[in-house]
Amino acid sequence: MARIDWNLRSRSRACMKCARPFEEKETVRSGVLAFEAPLVAELFAEKLAEEAAAAAAGQPVKPHPEYVRLDFCEDCWKALAPADWISVWKGPYVPPETAPEDPLRKATPETLLRSLIEGEEPENHIQAIYLLSVMLERKRILVERALKTAPDGTLVHVYEHRRSGDILLVADPRLTDDEIPGVQAEIELLLGLRPSPPSPSAPNLVSLPEDRAKEDPT
Ligand SMILES: [Zn+2]
Repeated sequence: MARIDWNLRSRSRACMKCARPFEEKETVRSGVLAFEAPLVAELFAEKLAEEAAAAAAGQPVKPHPEYVRLDFCEDCWKALAPADWISVWKGPYVPPETAPEDPLRKATPETLLRSLIEGEEPENHIQAIYLLSVMLERKRILVERALKTAPDGTLVHVYEHRRSGDILLVADPRLTDDEIPGVQAEIELLLGLRPSPPSPSAPNLVSLPEDRAKEDPT
């Protein structure tokens, strides 16, 4: 399975080329590019130089994501050099919501998906992440922007959150019909829709990757 950067990437509030803040309902051109793309190096030249200086000074530097989401105003988009985009689309700019999330609110498929992706080991929840994404797409909360094949053959769905503009890359685990009920049960358990297994020694509802099995003796 291809290594995927799982973090949700929010829509920027300003054009990444001219830095002008987007106005509400203005058409924004968005796309996903591999981090190695020349355009990324050009746009983030200053930041990358700062990082290189920090690394040279022995400071820890965060690893780069594999993919980046870029947003542009129409004028800058037209002036961009061609790039090897993984996905491009356009849509009206919607300012991010500022209301704080209620921490006591019950988990929903949406909050669960976010917590699995932002959690410690998203690679151990590939099946649940995929199935939740499909559920949210059916509810029209996520929109599929592209379907790509990674070099190792893994299918990768590029989803955008309709309201927030967050981008989400989801590997397709190619679930078989036999596997779906187990993953659904795992999701229901995580959502608190069914009681926890009676003891920690209860069998896993889904088969987990080997490395997880080693770390987790239950
Ligand atoms: Zn611009």
